[in-house]
Amino acid sequence: MNVLVINCGSSSLKYQLIETDSETVLAKGLCERIGIDGSAITHTPKGGDKVTTTVPMKDHTDAVKLVIEKLTDTNVGVIKSLDEIDAVGHRVVHGGEKFASSVVINDEVMAAIAECNDLAPLHNPANIIGINACKEVMPGVPMVAVFDTAFHQTMPDKAYMYGIPYEYYEKYKVRRYGFHGTSHDFVSKRAAEILGKKREELNIIVCHLGNGASISAVKKGQSVDTSMGLTPLEGLIMGTRSGDIDPAIVSFIADKEGITADEVVNILNKKSGVLGLSGGISSDFRDLGDAAESGNEMAKNTLEAYAYRVAKYIGAYMIAMGGVDVIVFTAGIGENNAIVRALVGKYLTCLGTSIDPEKNKLRGEEVILSAENDKVVTMVVPTDEELAIARETVRLTK
Ligand code: AMP
Repeated sequence: MNVLVINCGSSSLKYQLIETDSETVLAKGLCERIGIDGSAITHTPKGGDKVTTTVPMKDHTDAVKLVIEKLTDTNVGVIKSLDEIDAVGHRVVHGGEKFASSVVINDEVMAAIAECNDLAPLHNPANIIGINACKEVMPGVPMVAVFDTAFHQTMPDKAYMYGIPYEYYEKYKVRRYGFHGTSHDFVSKRAAEILGKKREELNIIVCHLGNGASISAVKKGQSVDTSMGLTPLEGLIMGTRSGDIDPAIVSFIADKEGITADEVVNILNKKSGVLGLSGGISSDFRDLGDAAESGNEMAKNTLEAYAYRVAKYIGAYMIAMGGVDVIVFTAGIGENNAIVRALVGKYLTCLGTSIDPEKNKLRGEEVILSAENDKVVTMVVPTDEELAIARETVRLTK
């Protein structure tokens, strides 16, 4: 079966065409600057070179049409016609409390996704635009929505409720939802597989450390806690997001700087995290690593603060689950960044696990970092959210 996986942003559209029997990526690409001057599509067919074409795309429907053009192109295409796309899987950021698993998209589902717009105003409307664009270009092709929040819907209320007046939950559904659920699910499943165990037998802590970062406690196969909250701003220090802070900081800074609460929240989303903490060095961990290695104290301290926060969450989730069997690193930093893994590893020795410095040099590979007799396994499992979406699409449409 050929599944087209779509991840839509407000001015971008990422895609992968996956042949799901062999789980092969036939082609992937990205449409950027949709609706803005200078829009371009970058398309990479399997085994071929990346081709970037600057083409005007006034909206997402134009972008989807272009994706189909590239996929069926005589030179860079990988299928003969649209008919070879059997289903489309869409990443949808927020499913609120309405969706605890993926669903086949119909009118009722579309309305329910739109009702979650308030909870993710930057993401859900873009996801809806992407779905509508695909419907227009590929009418009749079954489509599935896979939600970032769904895997965490198993959290108990003690984990998802905030200590604020209950009426805000009743009126506005203010609670913790968590994100990156597709990744936490995929990675915890794969970790159990690698260890030759059932996920239902294990307590797993997944550290999804990318530009956005979150940790989850996966107890016997179910998410029982995760570090992101109502929005992806809560939890770890991230590339540009602050993670946990004292909420009173918002009005304090607004008063001092003469700006609005919204503007402060924007700073907490876009100018904080390791970018802000390092005094502006970078939000990218490769730059921070280079700066730290050349002796920059701000970069060193930032990496220390980052690792400390990760370690604190691991400690909390070990207690939340009544013990931990496996700690997994994933996403850009978790898969590739030896400095961060080593810094977190220093804290983990008290749990009876270790990180082998030689194995820690590996990048982007499945590897067990801990020693054979360690009480807790520490490992790296690369995430693959597109493959996870394609699998869900097959499960629901085949
Ligand atoms: P993601 O959002 O999952 O793509 O992760 C992005 C982050 O991963 C950035 O901070 C990158 O610096 C980091 N990253 C990606 N590749 C490497 C690498 N080879 N070494 C160190 N950090 C990396």
